[in-house]
Amino acid sequence: MLTWRRAFPAATAARGETVKALAALTRRAVTRVGADRTVLGLTIAVPGLVDPDGAVPAAPALGWRGVPLAASVRRALRDPGFPVAVDTEANLAVLAERRHGPYAATTDLIHLTGGPAIGAGLISAGRLLRGGRGFAGDVGHLPLAADGPACDCGRRGCLTALLGVDAVIRRLLPGAGPVTDHLPEVERIQALARAGDEPVRTGLTEIGRLLGQAASVLSGLLDPEVVVVGGHLAALAPWLLPAAHAELAARAPVPPGVRLEASTLGSAAGALGGATAALATVEAGRLPAG
Ligand SMILES: [Zn+2]
Repeated sequence: MLTWRRAFPAATAARGETVKALAALTRRAVTRVGADRTVLGLTIAVPGLVDPDGAVPAAPALGWRGVPLAASVRRALRDPGFPVAVDTEANLAVLAERRHGPYAATTDLIHLTGGPAIGAGLISAGRLLRGGRGFAGDVGHLPLAADGPACDCGRRGCLTALLGVDAVIRRLLPGAGPVTDHLPEVERIQALARAGDEPVRTGLTEIGRLLGQAASVLSGLLDPEVVVVGGHLAALAPWLLPAAHAELAARAPVPPGVRLEASTLGSAAGALGGATAALATVEAGRLPAG
């Protein structure tokens, strides 16, 4: 499997630049795959709302509103001859969990994404829950702390404003400034936590407690077997999960039946889910042309 990772300042870049960058990366990947192999599809994971046409009605973490993403990328690729799909990072990540890794046989599971926006991919009774308009699992703006930090959506104390990767970096690494590539900053937090840095450890415990509250709300709604956390929440799980487990247990009226665990798929869960989704259309009998 070929995996590339490239940081891009999508939250501050012009929309056209983001589309151009996506198209350029796609062209490079297609060239790399080689002319003797068939590209089954391109799937783009977005930390925000996605409608059935692959448009993004809103993604506050990116500052996007009404972006016809699938159509724009298709146009930028000059109708590439393979399907271009867009879905939420959360939906794709939970599809990857359901297909690969230790929860593959689990019929009731939730993947809570780490990253710039917190979203939930929901699988209930073996099926992905999309809701009426495709927006199910958009939990990033659930209010968790009325007096919490300001959120990109204009309110305060939302899940994303407390647990999103930018919020976590701002809180634990004061003075880090705006960050394009989150990975080195998350690694810095890991190193400080490992070294026993007191403020970082205390901050992680408090963030873990909030994560437990979020997991408790989701568990109350859907009664899953497992809630899997991804992205930076998985990377910081050794310090977040003990407090999160305690909070989850304290909030449950009966001993909680849900497990709260770190994803083993790493930051590529969304990408893996994207590949899984493209393969699923082939398995459903829609063979590619040519
Ligand atoms: Zn918000």
